[in-house]
Amino acid sequence: MRIGTGWDLHRLKEGRRLMLGGIQIPFHSGEEAHSDGDVLIHAIIDAILGAISLGDIGTHFPPSNTQYKDISSLILLEKTVDLLTESGYRIINLDTTIILQEPKLKPYIAAIREKLAKALTLDIDRISVKAKTKENVDATGEGKAIESMASVLIEEIDNSVWV
Ligand code: MG
Repeated sequence: MRIGTGWDLHRLKEGRRLMLGGIQIPFHSGEEAHSDGDVLIHAIIDAILGAISLGDIGTHFPPSNTQYKDISSLILLEKTVDLLTESGYRIINLDTTIILQEPKLKPYIAAIREKLAKALTLDIDRISVKAKTKENVDATGEGKAIESMASVLIEEIDNSVWV
């Protein structure tokens, strides 16, 4: 087994879409980014890449590459899972935290978990998504930014059963 952690932050900008785990959250601001800015998925990608010591999201999907402009982060996540599989590993479970001042995410957590379960082809009970505020402290607490953290546990795929 191996473990990986990821963290990401994006500025929030008026008029941008707020994307979290592939779900669009109704809000007046969203992540400023080259891609769709899905801060939760970016943290998950870094956690997976970290677990297999394969660098980070910027290494694999550089913002300088126009191919990734406004791309859905779900596609980047699926490419990352392909790298994980090619490395001979699969996810055991994923735990995440989104940190933002507003809006309240409780009504959307189930949909986010479902979307991630599909993208990762994992049972939903192996995926945890939590949300908390920053108590009005610092840029995130003032609503200028949104952050996310992710931890992932992976295990080597046992091919012996197929031999
Ligand atoms: Mg990012």
